[in-house]
Formats: sequence, structure tokens, C-alpha cells
Amino acid sequence: MRVLTALPVFLLTTVTALIPGLTLADDTYRFDEQTLQAIHDLSDTALESDLAYEITRSLTTEIGPRLAGTAQEARAREWAVAKLTGLGFENVRVEPFDLDLWTRGTSVIEEAAITAPYPQHLHAISLGGAAATPDEGLEAEVVFFSSFDDLLAFDDSDDALAGKLVFINDRMVATRTGEGYGWANRKRQKAWFHAEDRGAAGVLIRSVGTSSNRFAHTGMMSRPEGRKAKIPALAVSAPDADQIERIHESGETLRVRLKTSAGWRGEATSGNVIAEITGAEAPEEIVIIGAHLDSWDNGTGALDDGAGVGIVTAAAKLIMDAGQRPRRTIRVVLFGAEEVGLIGARAYAQARKDDGTLANHVIGSESDFGAREIWRLNSNVGEHALPFFDAMHVQMQHLGITRGNNEGNGGPDMYPLQYMGMPVAGLDQNGEDYFEFHHTPNDTFDKIVPAEMAQNVAAWVMFTWLVADTDMTFRPGME
Ligand SMILES: [Zn+2]
Repeated sequence: MRVLTALPVFLLTTVTALIPGLTLADDTYRFDEQTLQAIHDLSDTALESDLAYEITRSLTTEIGPRLAGTAQEARAREWAVAKLTGLGFENVRVEPFDLDLWTRGTSVIEEAAITAPYPQHLHAISLGGAAATPDEGLEAEVVFFSSFDDLLAFDDSDDALAGKLVFINDRMVATRTGEGYGWANRKRQKAWFHAEDRGAAGVLIRSVGTSSNRFAHTGMMSRPEGRKAKIPALAVSAPDADQIERIHESGETLRVRLKTSAGWRGEATSGNVIAEITGAEAPEEIVIIGAHLDSWDNGTGALDDGAGVGIVTAAAKLIMDAGQRPRRTIRVVLFGAEEVGLIGARAYAQARKDDGTLANHVIGSESDFGAREIWRLNSNVGEHALPFFDAMHVQMQHLGITRGNNEGNGGPDMYPLQYMGMPVAGLDQNGEDYFEFHHTPNDTFDKIVPAEMAQNVAAWVMFTWLVADTDMTFRPGME
């Protein structure tokens, strides 16, 4: 047991009974005394446990970076099988699938520099899916766009972008929900094909992130209809983007040199690692809790998503150790190849569609937003199940968690299943500083606060036990 110091207030109050004085409406769902005892015992145990922290330490130390399709990701699967087996899970297995392999090449350090008017080095990193420069590198004039929308609106009838480097400067704003990400991310996902179609030699973007540190954020580019980029595309750090912006504002012609050996390298294998606690009464009914095992290659993937691996694995293990089997099966899925396009999640969902077990997936959720505390419980379930979730939320109030809405998403790797009709819950984490570290060399284990992680596990054990040890259905129209 690790000694937890400087506990936040929400961890100092442990409520083991119903909150007194609560007004109960007629449609209030009530858990029986035995269930209340079980979930508060689990919560108490979780708040004292460092298991999630230790699992994440093990993954990020013994494996480190684990880019999809590489030998590092294969080692992570071996690690996961050994870890899950050692913890006592049942039916531990790997479900392999194929993917197109993209790697950065020989080094995580790629060359980028301003050559004119003021020669100097830039901190940059290729985006996933980007192409290599010629061996000797590439040097071109920069065309500056304040925003992705400006690129879309640009009149290129005179081939103004031919042979040029397109630079896009959209900034991202930090929020607790991370909601600024989608908008800011359009340039990372889509700028390359708009630039390539207009004859550009390459793309540079301000990193999609909120850090002012001098490192760049990588991340995957979109592949419309499986298309592969023929031009290099790199993100520069925010301070380097500021530098480019200042030079652009001076009116001088800006030239940049790039050198990278990034590119697609044929087909490779990845896989999803699965482990279970078999249900006592309805083993065919599945509650799926997930995280993703792969990470970007530049950090050690501690927040994205080593923390999620630790949190859901620890939650299931604490339930197992409580000595009582839930009614339904709890399935832990550690997805492969999330970062490069939810390849593992799609393979998992397609396999369930093919084998007819999709409808057995009662509800699911993924932990994939760092290691900060959970502050909100969202759901996306049939109306009839809302009182159940409202009652669950009442039991989570000692953790400082608010009740959100019924339009939640279950996390990226749940999207394909959610799209196919599986109900989901969202245990929303504080993402205020998540995009300081996201997809950077600074996504490392030291960023995790043990007490915050323990609070996560407490919420996850309560959620997981309640949905697994009930005969409540969550699909719309299935009450
Ligand atoms: Zn992630």
C-alpha cells in the first residue's frame, strides 16, 4: 500500500449510508441494502488502493512507448496477458487483427528549421500518416493561414500553393471537458489532403494542444477512403508557431526546411487483449469496460492511455477480490491501435456483429482521458433506465461527482459499439490540463497523482458493480 499524502477533500469524506434528508420522488430507483453495502465497501477499498497506479507504472516503465503495429505494441500485449493472468482474470486472450503500419522512421527527432529570413531550428514532429521528405530534405516557402477555414476558403486558381508549405495556425483553448479539441483538430486531420490536392509540397500546423512548452504534439491524420498522404505533414510546438507568426507579420518571405523519413510500411498485426470475470447468473450478458493499450511513440503513453489501462483493470480486480461474482460477465478489453484510427475497436465490434453477440453487450464505457479525478457521470441509455443512473449518481456524491446528461459518449473505443446500438456511460474526467501532455514526449508517469487515480477507480468499481449485478436493461425500448 502506498501512503497517500495531501488527500483532496472528496477523499476525506467516506459516506457508507444513504445521504440523509434526500427527497425521494416516486420514480426513484432504490438499491437494496446489500448492494449499497457492496458498492460503498468497494469504493472504500478503491480509495485506499494503489493498484491502478502500480499497473500504470508497470506498463509505462517495462514497455514504454507502444505505437500500433510495432514490436513495442506486441510487447505490450504480452505484458497485458501476463498481468491479467497474474491478477486472476478468466478467459485471458488476444484477438489479433491486421492494420496498415505507419512509423516515423529511424528517429523520433525530425529536422525542421527556418532557412530565411532568420535561420533557426524548429521543434516539430510528423503527424501520423504523413509521408517522408526526399532523402536530402525539402525546402520551400511558407504560405501562412490563420485558420483551417482560411485554407478551405482560399482561392488557388493561380496555383498559389503549388510547391509551397501550407502553415495553419488555429489555437486550441483549454477546457475541463476538452471540447476545444475537435474544432482545433480539423487542421491535423484534414489539412493534408486540401493542401496536397492544391499541389502543396507539405503541411505544417501549430500543434493541437494547450501547452506553451517547446515540444510538438503528434496525432493521426484522417484517411478519406483509405487514402495515404504523399506529402510530409508536421506539427510545430506552440512557441515555434508563435515565431512563424511573428515572422509572417513582419511581411518577410518565410522559408522552412524539413527532413523526415516518416511513412507507411506495409501490413502489420495488432490485437485486442480481453479478460473476464464470468457472471454468476447471466454469463452471456456482457458489461464491457475498456482502455487502449497502444500509445504514440514520442512519450510513454502514461495519461493516454496507460492510466485507463490501470483504472479499468484495477476496478475489475477489486470487484473480483470482493469475493462475490456479479450477475453478468465483466469483460475488460484493452484495445490495440486506437490512436491510428480506432482499428481495434472497429475489429472488436465487427467480430461481435459477425458472431451474433453484439446484442449481449448490455452497456460499456472506456477510460481514455488521463488520470485526473472524475467529476461527472453521463449516460446514454433508454429513458426507463435513467432513474437507475440517477440513483447511481446519488451513491457517487462522496466522490465529488455531478450528474450530467443522457447524451454521453462512452469513450473513443466504444464509438463503433455505441454506433451499433450499445448503451454507454461516460465517467467524465477533469481534462483541464490533459492537452498540455497529449501526444507529446511529456506524457509520462510522473504526471499521475495517486489520490486522483484512486478516486477514478472508486467511481469505476461502483459503476461496474451496479450495472453488472443487476437485471436492469439499458437499451432503449427494452424495459
Ligand atoms: Zn487515448
